[in-house]
Amino acid sequence: MKKSVKVRIDEDHGVVRTTVVGVDKTPAECPICHVAVTPLDLGLALQIQGETALEQVFQCPNEECQHIFVARYQEGKQGFEFDSCVPIEPIVGQQSPTISQISPDFCLIYEQADKAEQHGLLLVAGPGYRKALEFLVKDYIISESTETGKELAIKKTTVEKTQLGACIANYIKSERIKEIARRATWLGNDETHYVRRWEDKDLKDLKKLISLTLHWIEIEKLTAEVMVDMPHRKP
Ligand SMILES: [Zn+2]
Repeated sequence: MKKSVKVRIDEDHGVVRTTVVGVDKTPAECPICHVAVTPLDLGLALQIQGETALEQVFQCPNEECQHIFVARYQEGKQGFEFDSCVPIEPIVGQQSPTISQISPDFCLIYEQADKAEQHGLLLVAGPGYRKALEFLVKDYIISESTETGKELAIKKTTVEKTQLGACIANYIKSERIKEIARRATWLGNDETHYVRRWEDKDLKDLKKLISLTLHWIEIEKLTAEVMVDMPHRKP
């Protein structure tokens, strides 16, 4: 254990006792502004009576933040080990204008899955990412349609009703998007099915594949825009 912390233990009948325990580390990042900091120790640490938990109060030294947060520790073999900080303000990344235009629903669902993940709700974050992927792929397919009017409406309905894997196989022309999106779907489905097939893969792998799908879609769209904007060499 690297640090000693003076902790308060509230015992029965209003008796308060103090003791010194070892903790493995101080949080290195503020959970609210997400800046790397050495937090200010406000001198209050409490060992929860009857539990193996320790809570220590800190303040963020970042002048633009200054918020108070609590670091939680769990008793381990050699003292208290850092577990997490509360409260957490999730960081929300913005999607690019191209992706936001193709699928506002993807952006919204992805943001919620991301927030769930940051709050530690991994069992709902996974299916959330899978749902986001489905909206992204289907909205992308619809955005690529050359049909108009009634034919476009029919295609939209068909795409909406078709399973994601079949949509990718049947409608996506770009081999790179197709191959990456297929793999993202395999991992995404693992998040929603009772039995996991890809046991050596996790949320990080799924997010990496969604990110690659996003990038390839973006590159395809931007390339197509340039080709329309500059179809020929200037004479
Ligand atoms: Zn902060």
